[in-house]
Amino acid sequence: MTVTYDEALTRYEPVFGLETHVELGTRTKMFCGCLTTFGGEPNSQVCPVCLGLPGSLPVVNRTSIEYTVKIGLALNCSIASWCRFARKNYFYPDMPKNFQISQYDEPLCTDGYLDVSVGGEIVRVGIERVHLEEDTGKSLHVGGATGRIHGAEYSLVDYNRAGIPLVEIVTKPVPGTGFLAPEVARAYVTELRDVLRSLDVSDVRMEEGSMRCDVNTSLSVLGSGVWGTRTETKNVNSLRSVERAVRTEIERQAAVLDEGGRVIQETRHFHEDTGATTSGRSKEEAQDYRYFPEPDLVPVAPAAEWVESIRASLPELPSARRARLISSWALTDLEFESMRNAGALDAVEATIAAGASSGDARKWWMGELARRANEAGVEMASLPITPADVARVSALVSAGTLNDRLARQVLDGVLAAEGTPDEVVAKRGLAVVSDDSALLAAIDEAIAANLDVAEKVRSGKVAASGVIVGAVIKATKGKADAARVRDLVLERLS
Ligand SMILES: [Zn+2]
Repeated sequence: MTVTYDEALTRYEPVFGLETHVELGTRTKMFCGCLTTFGGEPNSQVCPVCLGLPGSLPVVNRTSIEYTVKIGLALNCSIASWCRFARKNYFYPDMPKNFQISQYDEPLCTDGYLDVSVGGEIVRVGIERVHLEEDTGKSLHVGGATGRIHGAEYSLVDYNRAGIPLVEIVTKPVPGTGFLAPEVARAYVTELRDVLRSLDVSDVRMEEGSMRCDVNTSLSVLGSGVWGTRTETKNVNSLRSVERAVRTEIERQAAVLDEGGRVIQETRHFHEDTGATTSGRSKEEAQDYRYFPEPDLVPVAPAAEWVESIRASLPELPSARRARLISSWALTDLEFESMRNAGALDAVEATIAAGASSGDARKWWMGELARRANEAGVEMASLPITPADVARVSALVSAGTLNDRLARQVLDGVLAAEGTPDEVVAKRGLAVVSDDSALLAAIDEAIAANLDVAEKVRSGKVAASGVIVGAVIKATKGKADAARVRDLVLERLS
C-alpha cells in the first residue's frame, strides 16, 4: 500500500528533528597533535593517542573548545561554565579505543535556537544541545559489489579520521510545520551550514562528509496531540537528500499507520539513488553505552571573560546579513532567497563594493551571468570573471560607452579570457559610436534609402522614424546608441 505525500498530510502531523555532525577545521586532532588534512595516505596521520594504544593520554585541543563555544553562541545557546567529557563504550572496528570520548549529560552548549526562512516565513528551530566528541576512523570493504561489508572479501581500516574533533548539533523536535516539514528541514541545514561557514570553523562539505545529518521523523494522528514513534535516518549527505528523507519517511510511516501497523523505532538507511529508506538497526531496546566521566581528562571550564571575548569576535551571521541586504538592496524575501539559492550574494555585494549600483550588480549577476553559469553547469562564483570586471562593464554602460548588447559581448570576451573589460572593448572594437558626425553620415544614408519613410516623419508621423533608426543601428553593427540616433534623426527631419 502506498500513500501520497498530500494524502498523508490530511491525516497526520509530521514532527522532525535533526542531529548534525560537523568536523571542525582545526589544524590538529581533538586529543593529540596529528594533522587533520583530508585525503592523506591511509594511516599516515596517526599516533599512540588516536590509535588508542595503552598508556597514551589525551590532551584537549583548545581551539576545538573555542570553535564549539563560537557555534553555541551563534546558535543562541547557553555556554556551560563547567562540563566534562564522558566515555561512550561500544565496539566498532574503526574506533580504535573501543570507546569514544564524547559528552553525555554535561554538554558544552544547551538550549538555543536558529531562525530559518521558508517562502518568506520565519520558522524558529530549537537547539537542544551542541556537544563535542571525536570522529571515528573509516572502513573500506573490498571485493563486494556494493562497497558494503556484506559480500566483501576483506576490509581495510584507515585511522586518519579517528580523533578529528566532531561537533554534534541536536535540534529539539520541530512540530507544527505541516506540509512544509521537508522544506523546513532542508532550510535548517542550509542555514546551519551558512552559519558554520561564516564562523570559519569547518569547511562544511557535505559531499566529503565534513557535515553529515541524521534525520528523525515521526507522525502523530492529526489533532490527537500524541506524538508517534520516531525513526532515525542515518547519514543523509546532501541538502536535497535531507528534504527527500523527511518526505519519504512521512509517506512510508503514513502507509504503515493506515494499515493499522505500528512504526518501529529504528535507524534507517537513506539511498541517494532511489530516495527510499530501508530498515537498519532496531532501537527498541536502548543500547547501554555505559557512559562514565572520562578519567584521563580534566573538566572543561571556559572562563566567562573568555566566552564574552568570543561573543564579541563573532562575525556578521547570515540572519543579520540577510536583514541588512534586504533593507539596503530593497529586496523582497523571495528575491533574497532566489539570490541566496543562486549563490549570488557574495558576487553582488563585491560588485557593489567595486562601484556598481545594487540594481546593476543584481541585473548582471542574476540575469546574464546566472544564465552563463547555468549553461556551463558551474557555480556562479567559479565563472572566470571578477566582481571588479562586472562593475567596470556596468560603469562603461552608465557612461554611454557600451549599450547592453555590447556589454554582453564584453562579458563574452572576459569569460573567454581575452582580458579585462577595457581590453576586450579595445580588441573587439566594441565601443558605442558616440561621434555625431559618424552617426550623421549613417543617418543621411539611411534617409536616402528610405525617402518615403522620411516624408512620413516630416509630416508628423514620428513613430515611423523607427525604420530609419533601425537601419542606422544595423549599419553601425549595433554600436550606436539608439536614443541618440533617434534624436538626431528627428532633428534631421524636422
Ligand atoms: Zn594522533
